[in-house]
Parts: sequence; structure tokens; C-alpha cells
Amino acid sequence: MSDCLFCKIAQKEIPSKIVYEDAQIMAFADINPVAPVHILLIPKKHLLSVNDIMEEDEALIGRIFAAIKELARKLEIAESGYRVVTNTGTDGGQVVGHLHFHLIGGRALRAGLG
Ligand code: C5P
Repeated sequence: MSDCLFCKIAQKEIPSKIVYEDAQIMAFADINPVAPVHILLIPKKHLLSVNDIMEEDEALIGRIFAAIKELARKLEIAESGYRVVTNTGTDGGQVVGHLHFHLIGGRALRAGLG
């Protein structure tokens, strides 16, 4: 999608602090971190949200979670713990319309959700 912010980040038209990249996915530092570790993981392919994930994308989503696990290990938050969040749609608080997973950690997060 030509006017999608995260597509532009994936294509490096907009700079970001990339922490992981392969042919299908990218991970970069959130511009407005809520914790010492706040990474966004995206598929390079444009998917609007979880609602857009199709059967053919299952390996892609699995790859994102494999990258989350590896990044958590490298950033030394695997043992202390972390949170993975995907906001979906208006009520879910999704602001950017390109599927993304927040990896948040590096401090004790408030228990519970919502
Ligand atoms: O899940 P949601 O859509 O609300 O989150 C979007 C996230 O994208 C925010 O955490 C925001 O800080 C981040 N962002 C970014 N770089 C931009 C624009 C937004 O990291 N250029």
C-alpha cells in the first residue's frame, strides 16, 4: 500500500531503528516507547490487522513469533518476562493500519489488561 506508514518503513522510505529484518518481516524500535524495550514487529506484506490474516499467512505469523522469542533472548528479557500486544481496530486501539506486534519489556508491567 503506497500510503501506509509501516509499508514505507518496511521499504526504508522512512528511516527506523531496525533490530531485525529478513525477506518477510521487520522489527524496529517504537518511536514512542512505553518501556525500556519496545519493539514493533511487522510483516513486510501489507495486512491491515489480525482480521486480514489468511491461512496462507500462518507461516509468516509463526515467523514473527519466532523472531519475538529470539529478540527477547538477545535483549535479555526472556527470563524476566515481557508482553506481546496486537491492537486490532478502533475498539482495540489500533492507530497504524498495518498489522504489528508490540514487544514490550525491560521493566515490571502492570498486571492485567484493558
Ligand atoms: O498498536 P497501535 O497502532 O496503537 O500502535 C502504533 C505504534 O506505532 C505506536 O506505539 C507508535 O508509537 C508507533 N509508531 C512508530 N513509528 C511511527 C509511527 C508510529 O513507531 N512513525
